[in-house]
Amino acid sequence: MSFAVMFHHFHGRLHSKSQGSISAKQFTLMLNFLKKKYNLLNANKFFEKILNKSIKKNDICLTFDDCLKCQFDIALPILKKKNISAFFFIYSSVFDKKPNYLEIFRDFRYTKFKNVDVFYKEFFKLLEHKFKNKKKSLDEKFKKNYLAKYKFYSLNDRKFRFCRDKIISKKNYEEIMIDMMKSKNYDYKKKGNKLFMTIRDLKYLKLNNHLIGLHSNSHPVDIYSLSYKKQYLDYIKNFNFLKKHLSISPKSMSHPFGRYNKNSLKVLKKLGIKIGFLSSPVKSIKSNLEIGRVDHNSFIKK
Ligand SMILES: [Zn+2]
Repeated sequence: MSFAVMFHHFHGRLHSKSQGSISAKQFTLMLNFLKKKYNLLNANKFFEKILNKSIKKNDICLTFDDCLKCQFDIALPILKKKNISAFFFIYSSVFDKKPNYLEIFRDFRYTKFKNVDVFYKEFFKLLEHKFKNKKKSLDEKFKKNYLAKYKFYSLNDRKFRFCRDKIISKKNYEEIMIDMMKSKNYDYKKKGNKLFMTIRDLKYLKLNNHLIGLHSNSHPVDIYSLSYKKQYLDYIKNFNFLKKHLSISPKSMSHPFGRYNKNSLKVLKKLGIKIGFLSSPVKSIKSNLEIGRVDHNSFIKK
């Protein structure tokens, strides 16, 4: 089984610790481990081997999702030192003028509470207070096996995500979170742009031979519920953004939240995407747009 390793958050310097985040030291140890155990390929080599079907069982590559500044500040210098190139999957709405809540909310829940369970407790309390019926349907509908394949999620982590993705509307969710941020004096407007890479950072990635790919424009929580046309419009926006600012035609991508359907694959083919990554491992590669990934947290103990 060849696969990719999926990275998200790093901590150190300006970046606070959050669930699953790793330090520079842990990242270095992880790379040493991966290099010893597998055939760690540069991104373009992995891409080439997938396309000409010469990929071997032991071949792996590194991928970074979500355009995060902490990746640029913490992981990139180490990649440079070790001379490894990786895939970076960028969702373009982070460059919109309005604040991008996905990362802001995450930063808020990991920096403003004693621990994340305290956050969950307050969140569910406020949910009950503001949208009593929704809290009731959450308690009735939540199934313990939701997202159970992600072993690093606690029960509360999964219940919160079930609520966010299946029970309440985006609008209601944002309303609760904004209320909470206000009550904790968290200045989300100021924080917003510090969490993401800039266009200049992306240019630097390109210059250093990293491969930059799509991750949708808006990072929808449930892309499979969108029509073909809506998915197309979202991805083409993402594509055109990268084309405009980096003068590239992206050929790679990762599915936001690892979710997709037949229409997503059709859209990606139309855009000329040759290689796509999921967010969990697969036994064998079903298609070049459905390559499995292993979360870096699976290696942390090793
Ligand atoms: Zn993502």
